[in-house]
Amino acid sequence: MKKIALFPGSFDPLTMGHLDTIERGSKIFDELYVGIFVNTNKHSFFSVEEKVKLVNDAVAHLPNVTVISQETELTVTTAQRLGASFLLRGVRNMKDYEYEREIMEMNRHLDPNLETVFLVAKTEYSHISSSLIKEVLLFGGDVQKYLPKNVYEAIKKR
Ligand code: ADP
Repeated sequence: MKKIALFPGSFDPLTMGHLDTIERGSKIFDELYVGIFVNTNKHSFFSVEEKVKLVNDAVAHLPNVTVISQETELTVTTAQRLGASFLLRGVRNMKDYEYEREIMEMNRHLDPNLETVFLVAKTEYSHISSSLIKEVLLFGGDVQKYLPKNVYEAIKKR
């Protein structure tokens, strides 16, 4: 049976840390969906449409990766609809682990057949988050090496 996974996130913006998780995930699973979801706790810098375009361009070299967006549905419902048996998430540190564990337990309650798979972030990306990057950008700091080229270009245009 095909191993299909969904990597949900807000990706606002997509960072090299996210892209690394996507690249590694694409080697583990037969098909990987990157789901642009709305995080109700976070104010969004890019619109969903902009994020779909940016992520699509950044994963163009990965033939088994598909980008989708979802604004109203539960993650588990989207996974079921896509035929995905796995959720993919990244873990940077202990704080992430505790947060991710809560989400994993809730998703397990909602669908016991959906297995969450965690990939530990590479050391060089373990200190970066979309929020931190946005904060540094706001004050003119250089974060180019932490962003895929097309994402960096899109931000520069803003
Ligand atoms: P969310 O708002 O759902 O946490 P994010 O876009 O912030 O969405 O993150 C999506 C996933 O990517 C999460 O599992 C997060 O832990 C992971 N992630 C975020 N930054 C990195 C990074 N630098 N390296 C690896 N994984 C990361």
